[in-house]
Amino acid sequence: MDELNNAFRKLIVGVDTKVPLLNGDYVTAINLDNAATTPPFNSVMKKILEFVPWYSSVHRGTGYKSIMSSEVYEEGRAIIKRFVNADKSRDIVIFTKNTTESINLLAYILAQDDDDSIVLSTEMEHLANDLPWRDKFKVDYICTDECGKLSIEDLEMKLRKYAGKVKLVTVTGASNVTGFKNPIHEIASLAHRYGAKILVDGAQLVPHCPVDMKDFDSAEHIDYLAFSAHKMFAPFGIGILIGPQKTFENIDPVYKGGGAVTLVSRQFIDWESPPYNNEAGTPNIIGIVALLEAIRILNCIGMDVIHEYENSLIDYTTAALMGIPGVVLYGNSEKHESKIGIVSFNLLGFDHRLLAKILSCEAGIAVRSGLFCAHPYVEKLLKITDQELQYYQENPDVPFPGMVRISVGLYNSYSEIDALVACLRWINGDKIKCKQKYTEISQKVSGPKSPLLYTPRKKMP
Ligand code: PLP
Repeated sequence: MDELNNAFRKLIVGVDTKVPLLNGDYVTAINLDNAATTPPFNSVMKKILEFVPWYSSVHRGTGYKSIMSSEVYEEGRAIIKRFVNADKSRDIVIFTKNTTESINLLAYILAQDDDDSIVLSTEMEHLANDLPWRDKFKVDYICTDECGKLSIEDLEMKLRKYAGKVKLVTVTGASNVTGFKNPIHEIASLAHRYGAKILVDGAQLVPHCPVDMKDFDSAEHIDYLAFSAHKMFAPFGIGILIGPQKTFENIDPVYKGGGAVTLVSRQFIDWESPPYNNEAGTPNIIGIVALLEAIRILNCIGMDVIHEYENSLIDYTTAALMGIPGVVLYGNSEKHESKIGIVSFNLLGFDHRLLAKILSCEAGIAVRSGLFCAHPYVEKLLKITDQELQYYQENPDVPFPGMVRISVGLYNSYSEIDALVACLRWINGDKIKCKQKYTEISQKVSGPKSPLLYTPRKKMP
């Protein structure tokens, strides 16, 4: 495992970056916040530098460089399709800026021929796969159980209840809170049986596991897939939306402008065919070059190898966290094959923000704290009642509960997890002193009300 990890670490920009601690020392940064965004692959940066001399406007020039850039852009769609086994001719790839934009775009398009239909989302979604549907459709939410797992029984019950009126089942491939993977092909089969289509929010799934959209003729076919390049080592602002060409024909584009039309007069607008009608303006070719290189590296390693390594790392993390008195784990499951490398927890008696801040200030460890843009899911896991929610809404100065999240990437090591656990044990062992120290600093630096604490202001070495 160590050899594998050493090899993975060499692929990443910034694994040796030193960050300042509160006491003024510098340590090698430990990034356990990969679900938010990942650092780039070294080869992604190299590829961009190689490409930049050839960089030019896509589809708008007749110069050699423009033709080259356009070729990379178009060929990129085929590479991306192959990566998730989308249909070569019937699916299209639309370039967006992230998963959020991809899902908003699809919601906007599907709402255009809407006839009062229903969208089934789930209780475990990131807000990106919840809010875009709310103002356009009647939305119902498939339940999760106590642990946070999706109830397939409730999905079927709701599909039956709405008797053919469900247009879309929209579900995350993997949760950014508990790491639970959903059985997307089983969900697809069920959705199709009741005449609905399926969208998979692949923001957390595509970077960590093999994803197969499957044949159009298969009941398990994934109709729509959305994901973000910045979560897969290519942080240059590209998102992907994949779906059948047909969905995107004869629609009113959300963004209107150059590149999305064939001919315009004062009297008429002739829109381009898909995907171009949804890609108005100058596209982000550098972002695409970055994503294609990241996909090349991920393919070379093998998505199943990545999945297995990250799972063993998160199993190790979970077991170690369970050994710390006062740690409360959320969505804990024995069956590691149904998870990706995420675990969320709290340390009793500690505010989640404070804990995350101390990990950074004392050990240079980056984690995330809060509701992780999955508010209803986290609220349910934390068992926050409606009355409590109302109280927090009416009292925005009262710090809201939350969790701390560890999310690993292929370059994280067992020794980094050991450092996290050692720091948590140290905090837990001296809770009162630790809290006092940080509260005093907080009061000195930003006044008593600030929920966040001191940020080291040292210059970089
Ligand atoms: N869906 C899930 C499950 C996520 O975890 C995230 C981001 O963390 C998103 C959607 C939104 O991704 P982006 O911020 O790239 O649009």
